[in-house]
Amino acid sequence: MSATPASKTRVTALPGDGIGPEVFEATRRIFEAANAPIEWEMAEAGAAVFKKGIASGAPRETLDSIAKNRLALKGPLETPVGYGEKSANVTLRKHFELYANIRPVRELPGIRTPFTGRGIDMVIVRENVEDVYAGIEHMQTPDVAQCLKLMTRPGCERIIRAAFGLAIAEDRKKVTCATKANIMKLTEGMMKRVFEQVGPDYPDIARDHIIIDNCAHQLVIAPEQFDVIVTSNMNGDIISDLAAGLVGGLGIAPSANLGDHAAIFEAVHGSAPQIAGKGLANPTALLSAAIMMLRHIGAFETAATIEQALFITLAEGQNLTGDLSPRGHGVGTDKFVGQVIANLGRASNQPSRDYHPLSLTPWPNLTAHTEPKTRELLGVDVFIESDLSAAELGASLAQLAEGSALTLDSISNRGVQVWPSTGGQTFLVDHFDCRFMLKEPAQGNGPQGISDLVKAIGQEHSWMHVEKLQRFDGKDAFERPQGEA
Ligand code: NAD
Repeated sequence: MSATPASKTRVTALPGDGIGPEVFEATRRIFEAANAPIEWEMAEAGAAVFKKGIASGAPRETLDSIAKNRLALKGPLETPVGYGEKSANVTLRKHFELYANIRPVRELPGIRTPFTGRGIDMVIVRENVEDVYAGIEHMQTPDVAQCLKLMTRPGCERIIRAAFGLAIAEDRKKVTCATKANIMKLTEGMMKRVFEQVGPDYPDIARDHIIIDNCAHQLVIAPEQFDVIVTSNMNGDIISDLAAGLVGGLGIAPSANLGDHAAIFEAVHGSAPQIAGKGLANPTALLSAAIMMLRHIGAFETAATIEQALFITLAEGQNLTGDLSPRGHGVGTDKFVGQVIANLGRASNQPSRDYHPLSLTPWPNLTAHTEPKTRELLGVDVFIESDLSAAELGASLAQLAEGSALTLDSISNRGVQVWPSTGGQTFLVDHFDCRFMLKEPAQGNGPQGISDLVKAIGQEHSWMHVEKLQRFDGKDAFERPQGEA
């Protein structure tokens, strides 16, 4: 963070698209009235940038500004159709490795929902850069699409430590890890295992694990039981929106994207093009994100002053924007902002939490690598495109493997074993996972044996990728298809 001479913290401001400039201006005015120790450095991202032909949606100057200030407040960004494939939001998130997405979910005074009065007050900590959202996708055949779900031990560890760190900073009592470890034992299972390993480092924080689908169910049945939830990228994407819906919706939800090198705070809602430029937008979400940013830099008192003014404005309900008011009774952004400013210095019935500085464990700047004590090569999965029946393909591959270093072990189709047949009624697509095991893995000639086999297969069939089957430290590093004994 770069401090200005007047000991203000300089923040890159990205007002963004649609209602973005209006909600940013509203936030800026409230910050000015509250004497918030922030100096804005204006920068561009989003639709206007795409239209200039910059395919990432974020120009060099913007990236440099964020890199220098290490802090940004961002309005919604559009990806205009026909101008670039990428989302500027994702560009920023990945460029700065903003791995921790923090989504507080708290009942706000004056905002009535079916859950009002339940005491909902939780934070969802979502891994923000890995998982299926790494965007590694390939068409395997014209009919079969594949997306790699990449989860890493360092990725799991740093998000889990961020969740515990956040629990300490916000004086929270429990971290719940939500995964699908029962089905995806290696990827989601890694998050659960790392949670169990890392958790004891935080003895004052209770911890438990929940299967993600039950987590969604429990969020609706008994949302007040949750304090901090940590989860992987796609799970977090879904449950954080679900949870926002419990307390009034995306339109009022703030979020922070934190990494070792920068932090970007934003409203969760989009650019609301239908009301853009009309002075009707509700700035609550961006203002709440900016309040999170104040706490991030340690300006706890100013954060509480502005938050209390916002709470009182919402609770008294006189000058609320149209989205929060009965039809026809809403006021414009300007009047709402004036009301928040008028309420600065007042305390609401809903106290602000007692926050402390959040410290993230910095990750070393090198290629993360763990060398196992033992590493054995056991075989190979060869993925083959074929319109043969499973029996025909099995007969052909078994014959091809004869005399090689491997034997055909099984063939599966979309994860279900189809050769040798288990008698199941699997619908087949032209994408077979053909598993070959080394006859004598200990001999150490596996790589050559695999290359020879793949070459032989390639002369009769079309293969699209191969996966080594390994065992690290005596543990199989692969899963078995459904139906395999
Ligand atoms: P949206 O959030 O813009 O709008 C959904 C509904 O909520 C609309 O009825 C809108 O009028 C209302 N709304 C949203 N924010 C409001 C506010 N602050 N005050 C009052 N009403 C508000 O979602 P969308 O229509 O799906 O998306 C519009 C554009 O925004 C798209 O181009 C999308 O890609 C982009 N988007 C950007 C982000 C981001 O930058 N983080 C997030 C979501 C959508």
